[in-house]
Amino acid sequence: MKTYVLKDERKKELKLLDKALQKISRKELPHILHVQQAILRASDEYMYKKGVTRIMPIMIAPITDTLNHDVEDCELKYEGQKFNITKSMIFHKQIMLSSPYLDKIYIVSPNVRLEQEEEGDKRHLFEFTQVDFEFKGASMDDVFEFQEGLVKYVFDYIKKECADEFKTLGIGTSHLDVTIPFKRYTTQELKAKYGDDFEEIASKKATQPFWLINHKREFYDAEDLEKPGTYRNYDLIWPYGYIEGLSGGEREYKYDRILTRMRELGVDENAFRNYIELAKEGKIPKTAGAGFGVERMTRFVCQQKEIDDVTVFTRKPGETYLF
Ligand code: ASP
Ligand code: MG
Repeated sequence: MKTYVLKDERKKELKLLDKALQKISRKELPHILHVQQAILRASDEYMYKKGVTRIMPIMIAPITDTLNHDVEDCELKYEGQKFNITKSMIFHKQIMLSSPYLDKIYIVSPNVRLEQEEEGDKRHLFEFTQVDFEFKGASMDDVFEFQEGLVKYVFDYIKKECADEFKTLGIGTSHLDVTIPFKRYTTQELKAKYGDDFEEIASKKATQPFWLINHKREFYDAEDLEKPGTYRNYDLIWPYGYIEGLSGGEREYKYDRILTRMRELGVDENAFRNYIELAKEGKIPKTAGAGFGVERMTRFVCQQKEIDDVTVFTRKPGETYLF
């Protein structure tokens, strides 16, 4: 009986093995990957031209992004110390800018977020890469201008370099003709207009990327002190229903503000004691930044049904994983 069950399970596994191989062997894949490579290449070029210093990623650290939604824990121990696998390098971005010699930095940063499976979810991978940047002394408007320039630069590059790819994938490029600056909406105004699913509805109606401003989320995103309860943070929303492609914000950097926001959100202050100490000593500078998802941009550019269509190995939440 036992062997029979095992055999059955093995059969299931072999089916999955077949599925995994089919995924790797899709004829569209090399074209999608080539476009993704062009996205990274053009992004690097843009950063280089703008004098933004590239930093190598941190993959495990004692602190990582607190995120504003629940994901499964993934801690590990090293040298008797607790480490987290990087969810984003937000705190490392802020801390490294304490150097008087670093002003503008970015990381092509692999992040692990063990998301819950959600029906109809087309935009989460449990590991992904973001191009994550942070600028000293910058405001929200500086980040908007920078990112709009980047999107335009990258899309123009791709239209030129990847014409064959688009032909083979059977898609046009009109969705890459962006007009900058992008429109800006607040979450409240879109919610009043479209209800709870405002992000998706507005994205489906849109034919140009747009900014969605003011989200109540992590403690490190700055609250607007002139309008308490509103936040100087933002998402970039891809149009045609592809929704969120970037998140960022101006940051809290003053000791009392960081503590106030941490207490409001119930963040474990002990885990952040060294970060808090830096803030207390006035070493965390005023910054703003953002990170855009590479796979999300690739999905939008290649007009793929779901984000897992741009990966080689499935990283969609709720699957069985062989590799
Ligand atoms: N990278 C984002 C930021 O700069 C945070 C995130 O990863 O969602 O705010
Ligand atoms: Mg986000």
